[in-house]
Amino acid sequence: MLLDEPVLHQSYAAAVPELSVPWQSDVPPAAELVWLNEDLAAELGYDAAWLRGPEGIALLTGQLAADGRSLAPGSDAPEHPFTTAQAYAGHQFGSANPQLGDGRAVLLGDLVDTRGDRRDLHLKGAGATPFARAGDGKAPLGPMLREAVVGESLHALGIPTTRALAVLTTGEQIAPRQGVTPEPGGLLVRAAASHLRVGTLEYAAWHHDLGVRRALVTHAIERHHPAAEGAASPPLALLEAVMRAQAELMAQWMLVGFVHGVMNTDNMALSGEGIDYGPCAFLDVHRRDAVFSSIDRGGRYAYGHQPGIALWNLSRCAETLLELVDEGDPNVAVEQATAVLERYEGHYRAAYARGLAAKLGIPLGAESDRVDSSPTQGEGTAAGGPDPGADQHLARIQDLGADLAVLLEEQQVDHTGFFRALTDADPASLFSDPAPFEAWHQRLLALRGTGPSAVAAEDAMARTNPVHIPRNVHLDAALRAAHLGDLEPVRTLLEAVRRPFEHHAEHAHLEGPGDGGEHFMTFCGT
Ligand code: AMP
Ligand code: MG
Ligand code: MG
Repeated sequence: MLLDEPVLHQSYAAAVPELSVPWQSDVPPAAELVWLNEDLAAELGYDAAWLRGPEGIALLTGQLAADGRSLAPGSDAPEHPFTTAQAYAGHQFGSANPQLGDGRAVLLGDLVDTRGDRRDLHLKGAGATPFARAGDGKAPLGPMLREAVVGESLHALGIPTTRALAVLTTGEQIAPRQGVTPEPGGLLVRAAASHLRVGTLEYAAWHHDLGVRRALVTHAIERHHPAAEGAASPPLALLEAVMRAQAELMAQWMLVGFVHGVMNTDNMALSGEGIDYGPCAFLDVHRRDAVFSSIDRGGRYAYGHQPGIALWNLSRCAETLLELVDEGDPNVAVEQATAVLERYEGHYRAAYARGLAAKLGIPLGAESDRVDSSPTQGEGTAAGGPDPGADQHLARIQDLGADLAVLLEEQQVDHTGFFRALTDADPASLFSDPAPFEAWHQRLLALRGTGPSAVAAEDAMARTNPVHIPRNVHLDAALRAAHLGDLEPVRTLLEAVRRPFEHHAEHAHLEGPGDGGEHFMTFCGT
């Protein structure tokens, strides 16, 4: 029985029963834990030792009901499995698909964590569900480990993301993908703020009446953006909140050089967390058109396209809300939603500029010790009014960033390596022709200024610019080893990326891009 362990609820099924089906995962023939996220377990309220034991494994594999009863065959199973498969739709590579959904995953339930936040637990690789279409419902171990590594890395970098609680093997060998040899079957237990996606809103809009759609919007607002509840138009306020969260997320991905790879609307969470890491990768050399996914032949989801794609997805999100915004006059709804979407670029650019300032060691706060301390007018930012001085400062940072991107790309400089070298080494040595960099660097020094806040901003760079990201060559090598049964390299990589801002002697071999990083491709679906 579950004693002190958190109780799982089915808040989603209770709020919108039309949007999921009760479903139980397959019983894995020989489940074995290959990685348990002990920090996250504690945060969720689980005892790690309990999770490693038989009841914990039953929970992680979807075989334990909320009240602690076993769901395994032959046991005293409750009438309804407590887990569900969620329905969703989506735009995949720009084309509408009305029927997606959890084809190989179940929602184990949601719980309130030790901080008081509601979190979903989701099991991927759970066997074919009613949404499986032609799929086998299985998940290979490699992509589940990849998702765990990427999620831990992004989390450690301070970027909103779903996270792996555990990765398991099922004891099966599963059908080869892309002509490779059979792979060990894997399971990923994922914690997420929720699994509400833009594609969930699309599914409701395309298949359900206004009642269900309203219930979904109310649930999304309650769960993620409660301030929208009291707004004049809650659906519009939800759109605004999702827009801001995505603008922030895109800025963070761009700053750290992350390429999601499959930004379909079903892979965009309303919470603002990154979700569903399949053929994703971090940049080695900075390149706007970097694509690492073998299925993205047109480069739709290339590194430099991501902020624009997020806006495209937000437009699909807005379309699902129009009828709920102003049922009397569709034109008014369109105008209002358009106004929200038009604010996206400004939010994105400001978030990017603030993040870039941190990476470059440029102070934002104190007017006083700025080089160009053009006097702020009247009340300034303190009173929340417009601050032309601050706007100008941000604009200069944006220009500096645009010129840096060109420099890095022209001279094929490593993205992560550059920012870290700027932090604690000699960045000029990374450029084959250092002269243009030196000129750029002078502009940076001028923007930084010399006052106390400049010193503080420079000090903070080492906590902003990582040493450790999951480099393509190292992640690939670790996953190949895991495929062959050696899990040590992937555990080591996880340790390294979970402490991203320090050099660790034992992980020195994981710091650089190695050879051939730019030509790296990933072949896994999510
Ligand atoms: P993803 O690539 O993970 O975003 O998945 C897109 C859709 O395909 C989702 O509806 C998944 O549940 C489904 N899917 C992916 N792989 C499988 C599989 N092996 N079996 C069943 N459904 C799958
Ligand atoms: Mg997906
Ligand atoms: Mg998926």
